[in-house]
Amino acid sequence: MERTYIKELKNKIGSEIVIKGFVQTIRDQGGIVFLIMRDISDICQVVVLKSEKDIFELAKTLSTESVLEVHGLVKEEKQAPAGIEIQAKAIEVLSKAEPELPIPILMFKSGDEAEMTKRLDWRWIDLRRPEKIDIFRLWTALEQGFREYYSQNGFIQIYTPSFMSAPSESGADVFEVQYFEKKAYLAQSPQFYKQMAMASGFEKVFIAGPVFRAEPSFTTRHLTEFTGWDFEISYIESHYDVMSVLEDTLIAGFKAAEHVTANALTVPSKPFPKLTMAEAKTKLKEAGIKSERLYDLTPEEEREICRLTKEETGHEFLFIVDYPVEARPFYHMRHSDNPGLTKSFDLLYRGLEITTGAQREHRVDILEKQAKDKNLGLTSIEDYLNFFRYGCPPHGGVGIGPGRIIMKILDLPSIKEATFLPRDVRRLNP
Ligand code: ATP
Repeated sequence: MERTYIKELKNKIGSEIVIKGFVQTIRDQGGIVFLIMRDISDICQVVVLKSEKDIFELAKTLSTESVLEVHGLVKEEKQAPAGIEIQAKAIEVLSKAEPELPIPILMFKSGDEAEMTKRLDWRWIDLRRPEKIDIFRLWTALEQGFREYYSQNGFIQIYTPSFMSAPSESGADVFEVQYFEKKAYLAQSPQFYKQMAMASGFEKVFIAGPVFRAEPSFTTRHLTEFTGWDFEISYIESHYDVMSVLEDTLIAGFKAAEHVTANALTVPSKPFPKLTMAEAKTKLKEAGIKSERLYDLTPEEEREICRLTKEETGHEFLFIVDYPVEARPFYHMRHSDNPGLTKSFDLLYRGLEITTGAQREHRVDILEKQAKDKNLGLTSIEDYLNFFRYGCPPHGGVGIGPGRIIMKILDLPSIKEATFLPRDVRRLNP
């Protein structure tokens, strides 16, 4: 008999069906055993009557979280979840769970680090909670919205390597790996290669792939390996063209995600608010927030400037534009009338940076000069510089951190909760 998803049972009252799933709770009431079964779609109650002798004895010996196939009759039952229950006729144990679970399934989100560490050790069991599965439904929907936008607008998806012969940026937070007889480095971003695609004439590309950062951070927003979504586009006039495309992708993503989040997100409207770094610093000063660094925002400043913007505009996104050269890598284009400022931006959402973007410098002589300004040896970036020697359109793009977006949409206490298998300084398992 074909399997029925639990969610569909309400349309099958009076029919014989088969369901498959985990047995979440077992209540032995003497003459009757109640099971709560859970599949990917929902939960339901199964009753096993004493008159069904064989399965009644079996039901009494089941352990919770075992995986079962249950044959039975769907009946109306006002007291049961969704107003229906299954009267079991046959039960097959597809996989027996050990009697003691290492962590309880019904553990609530607490934000407590020690509790989270234990749960992450047993991540596959932790993820059995339906609201945990919903986190990844949200990823899926968000990514689907992005992809729809990309495909409707002529973007090409590319896959870039993670092994590199030289660190992609400063080298400070890069993982070094043994690569046969030499050293290789894990890509800190697909930056150089998506720019190479611009030099190849692809014009619009997007990437969804792994990014590695050897930063010894213990924050709630940093992982050592995370998924990055990137795009790069050609023939832009300035970083404002990049921001406009980013706004459109986010709107498309949020629209697609809207139906899976039960009111946790608002689809943003275009244009998103924008403040230059200088304006943001002035605003923060007026609000009594003391700045330690003039060229960047601290996490506290990010939260505060978003709070002020939300108060003023109702918008949950905020672009900070025109970062000083000190805060940006050598390849960000500088303003021709103000070379101390880059044509760059960060996008903040609900108080957290979720994206960095910029117009890139495509003129190789200026690029070389900017690299020297940052004390980079030109030979170490020779391959990269060569991308710009044989014609390359003006271009720009972004690196987006979807884990941080999901974390913020769902108000999760850490990016680790938004990541299927997080990797951090201490964690390489499971
Ligand atoms: P931060 O200043 O928060 O450390 P960053 O400036 O190093 O971030 P970028 O290198 O610009 O970040 O990366 C682009 C995006 O990737 C960020 O906006 C963020 O959403 C995400 N991201 C960066 N580093 C991490 C990390 N260690 N873990 C998870 N996501 C990250």
